[in-house]
Amino acid sequence: MNETPQKPAAATKAAAQKAVTKKATARKAVATKATAKKATTKKTAAAAEKAAPKKAAAKKTATAKKAATKTAPAKKTAKKTATKTAAKATAEAAAGKAPAKKAPARKPESRVAMVRRARRINRELAELYPYAHPELDFTNSFELLVATVLSAQTTDLRVNQTTPRLFAVCPTPEDMAAMDPERLEELIRPTGFFRAKAKSLLGLSAALRDRFGGEVPGRLEDLVTLPGVGRKTANVVLGNAFGVPGITVDTHFGRLARRFGWTTAEDAEKVEADVAEIFPKSEWTMLSHRVVFHGRRVCHSRKPACGACPIAPLCPAYGEGETDPEKARKLLKYELGGQPGQRLKPPADYPGQPAPPMAPQVAAP
Ligand code: SF4
Repeated sequence: MNETPQKPAAATKAAAQKAVTKKATARKAVATKATAKKATTKKTAAAAEKAAPKKAAAKKTATAKKAATKTAPAKKTAKKTATKTAAKATAEAAAGKAPAKKAPARKPESRVAMVRRARRINRELAELYPYAHPELDFTNSFELLVATVLSAQTTDLRVNQTTPRLFAVCPTPEDMAAMDPERLEELIRPTGFFRAKAKSLLGLSAALRDRFGGEVPGRLEDLVTLPGVGRKTANVVLGNAFGVPGITVDTHFGRLARRFGWTTAEDAEKVEADVAEIFPKSEWTMLSHRVVFHGRRVCHSRKPACGACPIAPLCPAYGEGETDPEKARKLLKYELGGQPGQRLKPPADYPGQPAPPMAPQVAAP
């Protein structure tokens, strides 16, 4: 009887053990599954992580490719421009031309600022050339008129060296009008274009004798009716022999007025009109002399001496010429360069040396 109850207990224990084992197995299986899942996830993550830079790189490459496609034409254009510029520079160098210097960038200037700057240039030039004067030798209005007509296409020095002999022979309009044309041509020959100039002198002398009583008229409208007399000559005579203000636009004045930014015109009458708008009438005659003085001494046509120019800070064209101070100083002319002036008889306040008379002509053997 005692053995019978023992059988179910053992069976129960075995069953229980079996159940525990089963449970454990199941748990193990779940655990294994979880581990496997975890591993798979990890593996996927790792793979994804590994793949990410590749993806990014691929994206980067695609973007770069796109950008490169976009930039290519621009690059091509830049290359083309560079090639063109280089070719131009080479051509200029081959032609012996220096490449144009780039002027420093300036702010656009208002009209008021330009007028202020222009008037300051005039004041500075007045300090620089207090002795500015017409550079033709003359003692009366007739001599000044004749000398101005002769000064076309030549230097004032050459005219000044020619006129003493001429005025010794024919000091008045009547004397000149009565001259033998060939004799007159011979006297004025050193000034060039002597045939045309002789014709003008004979015509204007006769007109002065016949229409103006042998006197030079003091009005612009009368002066310009004389043969060979234009606005420029008339203004020279009016300003310096009659004290009537006038702007004399010769080659120097026109060039400097454009460099100073007072005008953009090439035509002398337009330059005169533009400059007349900037300065009071009372300044016109002396302004003309100062500007011409500066043009002859410092601001030359081909090589302005910018590095030795006292008005450089006011000049928009600074840099058009030599900027090295030492080299620029060597370009200065007349009294500023230690050389004789143009007049044989300059005014008393002229600080330089008078010009020498013409060298005696040696007759051919
Ligand atoms: S700075 Fe140069 S361009 Fe200007 S006025 Fe002087 S010399 Fe002439």
